[in-house]
Amino acid sequence: MPPTFVKEWFGQPREKVQLLELADRDAAPFESGSIVLTPLGKSDSALARLNAVHQLTHAAFYSPRPWIYEGVAHFMQAAYKEQDNGRQAALDFMGLHRTAVADAETALAAEHNQDAAADESLINTSREEFYRSKAMYVWWMLRDMVGEPALKKALAAYHPEQDKEPSYMQHLIEAQARRDLEWFFDDWVYRDRGLPDFRVQSAYPRPIVGGGFVVAITVENLGSAGAEVPVTLRMEGGEVTKRVQVRANSTGTVRIEAPSAPQEVIVNDGSVPESNTSNNRFTIQK
Ligand SMILES: [Zn+2]
Repeated sequence: MPPTFVKEWFGQPREKVQLLELADRDAAPFESGSIVLTPLGKSDSALARLNAVHQLTHAAFYSPRPWIYEGVAHFMQAAYKEQDNGRQAALDFMGLHRTAVADAETALAAEHNQDAAADESLINTSREEFYRSKAMYVWWMLRDMVGEPALKKALAAYHPEQDKEPSYMQHLIEAQARRDLEWFFDDWVYRDRGLPDFRVQSAYPRPIVGGGFVVAITVENLGSAGAEVPVTLRMEGGEVTKRVQVRANSTGTVRIEAPSAPQEVIVNDGSVPESNTSNNRFTIQK
């Protein structure tokens, strides 16, 4: 249930969430502070539970920064979806936001405003597509990168009154993850660098002693924002997924062992928002 799920992340709520029912059965649920307004008779639906997760997160976790306050609440909805229906369902849920983010980035790039990259960074932006949808992806990517226990501890250590510098959150997460995240925050939070665009540059299978193959896969990122992205190798009778960090306008290589003949490589399972997903598959020639 949503209250238990949110408590696992943030402990006891700071304030009580009020659920008000709207008389109009077809009305869309919406939020106002810690009050959820939801259509009459739908308070048990999956959608109502998802909205409850959002509001309960607000009630338990406050930040004056919209990308943190709203981004975490939207991320928690995706995480709840994952717990209920699996990772693919969560990625599908986030996928509803992907086009909005990509379109907003395209529109911004078209404005050719020199200052736009800083103005529309997650720390400065007033665009909902960024501080809600893009921020949700940023939190999801951070969890994928550092792991859920480290992210939970970092959020538990967050105190809004101490959030004076934009890098405060970065340092909280780095302290738990023991990993440099400056490049990631630079590309996604402190600046608006647009989105990555991954393609599989090459995949070379080599037979190994004792049977099977090792496949060296090089992923190229044609975009100006770096990310750590899942790479899946499909083979006869199965698949293996590993993660590879690919900086902006750069390449990253990962080696995956395949007990049977490797067939296809797919970069990005949808967890990293991308400007172009039409070039993410690569067929391995026999
Ligand atoms: Zn909200």
